[in-house]
Amino acid sequence: MNLCNSRFSVTFGRQCSTILTSPSAGILQNRCSLTTKVPNWISSSLSCVQQTFQRTMNSTGQRGSRDSTGAPGAGASGGSGGGAPPPFQHPHCDRNAMYAQPVRKMSTKGGSYDYDLIVIGGGSAGLACAKEAVLNGARVACLDYVKPTPTLGTKWGVGGTCVNVGCIPKKLMHQASLLGEAVHEAAAYGWNVDDKIKPDWNKLVQSVQNHIKSVNWVTRVDLRDKKVEYINGLGSFVDSHTLLAKIKSGERTITAQTFVIAVGGRPRYPDIPGAVEYGITSDDLFSLEREPGKTLVVGAGYIGLECAGFLKGLGYEPTVMVRSIVLRGFDQQMAELVAASMEERGIPFLRKSVPLSVEKQDDGKLLVKYKNVETGEEAEDVFDTVLWAIGRKGLVDDLNLPNAGVTVQKDKIPVDSQEATNVANIYAVGDIIYGKPELTPVAVLAGRLLARRLYGGATQRMDYKDVATTVFTPLEYACVGLSEEDAVKEYGADEIEVFHGYYKPTEFFIPQKSVRYCYLKAVAERHGDQRVYGLHYIGPVAGEVIQGFAAALKSGLTINTLINTVGIHPTTAEEFTRLAITKRSGLDPTPASCCS
Ligand code: FAD
Ligand code: NAP
Repeated sequence: MNLCNSRFSVTFGRQCSTILTSPSAGILQNRCSLTTKVPNWISSSLSCVQQTFQRTMNSTGQRGSRDSTGAPGAGASGGSGGGAPPPFQHPHCDRNAMYAQPVRKMSTKGGSYDYDLIVIGGGSAGLACAKEAVLNGARVACLDYVKPTPTLGTKWGVGGTCVNVGCIPKKLMHQASLLGEAVHEAAAYGWNVDDKIKPDWNKLVQSVQNHIKSVNWVTRVDLRDKKVEYINGLGSFVDSHTLLAKIKSGERTITAQTFVIAVGGRPRYPDIPGAVEYGITSDDLFSLEREPGKTLVVGAGYIGLECAGFLKGLGYEPTVMVRSIVLRGFDQQMAELVAASMEERGIPFLRKSVPLSVEKQDDGKLLVKYKNVETGEEAEDVFDTVLWAIGRKGLVDDLNLPNAGVTVQKDKIPVDSQEATNVANIYAVGDIIYGKPELTPVAVLAGRLLARRLYGGATQRMDYKDVATTVFTPLEYACVGLSEEDAVKEYGADEIEVFHGYYKPTEFFIPQKSVRYCYLKAVAERHGDQRVYGLHYIGPVAGEVIQGFAAALKSGLTINTLINTVGIHPTTAEEFTRLAITKRSGLDPTPASCCS
């Protein structure tokens, strides 16, 4: 797309429809000859606006490809909404839950209510659901409200966690950190690089925040375009058909036939002195006005490891405090390799430790007292920043769920295979539901499928199994399917074959980067067709490598197919096609050669 004077269509609520963009002029003009001054953050990141906008259009099937992806009733993977199960039955894809059970008749276009559907929460799940419901003919309102963070009062616009304080700013900071690494590698490749080169935290934050604001803006326009009524208000139930929205100008009571709860979660704080006063969370980090400096990252889940990783890459000094294990829920061999690769880069891991208190010293630094949970031994250290990354709490408290009769389980909402709560007209999707992966693409697809079932006559349900994911650590880790330990638990050690290997990315040689942790494995059936149950990869661009394999795994990938697939050389993804050594054989999995 030509960035200068490129053109994209946005239908504002009323008639004025086509917007001509001109970043150099910094103005938007539409067919009705309206001229709008564009804020700097829009013109400065205009190309991102356009690309985001384009992606939004593509992903909702709004432009061009509606038959294949967005036709009312169509399934997510292209036209399976009619109900016939596809021929292949993968052991981990819950096809029965998806298609075979009788589906309750849910769709009722309410006459006496203000809306057919009110979606509470304007994040990934809520927005996808609201937009899809409108496409299928429903009258929809979507509420979104962000409470400021308790420590710094950080708040943000519409779009939810992913866009504002999650995946997007995280990926941008991860990229900034990888670029720093690349600059240093460039010298080995013959570039004359100034070795005094260093990142500017405030400039990075500004660029990241500009991008976020542009996405907020596109989101608002998109909602108007698609005729979703956006209400910037905090919703709480009066009864199962009535919601009280606390808005800027007061309160508004609205009713709907159906509700979808998509309120997501917010970071937890530990219950120790000084935690809220002095500690921050990922909700504050991406807009932090000062350099983080020496940072204690408490928690060794996705967020803890990712934040520690990019902080180190940007030149700061993170330490990761681990209460029990690293990356709970992931394959533990891979998790320990990820941790070891971070330690090799100079990120200390304080194992088996929990914080006891945070005090602010006279010099403004933070004194953290902590203890080893096994030995009871206490210690202390001083940090510039303390980042809590100890998990997230579902935002059920403001919803007044008892008024609607909705059941809660550990600050989440349990739902059935159709995302229905225990109350007939109330559903829940996204991070707020109990026991499902907290990931954006899961939230989006579940929200969209729910809307299609409610208003498009579709029957397809969300399949929460075999969801691929990536941990964006400096050396990334991506996986899909079962971990080795879960495969053993499910099938027994004698029925599992693990193919594994270390590998050396070609591009690592010249800058002499460590290849010690570049490792991958396929967990498969031992006998029979040798179906692949799980794939695990540590290395560069892990998400890009695993995404396609995820589709293969969902389609019934076998070891035979994998090793008879011709690789693309020289890539790291091709290593999956070269897997020949089983753990059981005891042979050395380190590579002997690269090209033969
Ligand atoms: P949210 O996006 O949280 O949206 C809920 C919205 O509802 C929020 O705006 C909230 O303020 C609002 N709300 C809450 N209560 C009310 C109320 N009563 N009334 C009105 N509005 C209300 N996932 C990935 O797939 N890949 C990643 O790389 C990734 N990185 C992440 C990094 C971080 C730091 C974090 C925190 C998360 C990351 N995630 C990632 C997870 C991903 O962001 C979430 O799974 C996703 O945003 C969940 O979407 P949701 O719609 O369920 O909730
Ligand atoms: P998480 O994955 O649940 O990890 C929480 C970590 O904090 C664990 O290591 C846990 O240790 C530790 N912990 C919990 N309570 C503690 C306490 N009181 N004191 C010390 N340590 C404590 O949570 P998260 O990292 O905050 O991420 C939340 C969700 O966001 C994830 O589930 C994920 O789905 C999503 N996310 C996804 C991505 C991605 O896709 N790349 C990135 C970021 C976030 P124990 O193991 O001992 O409990």
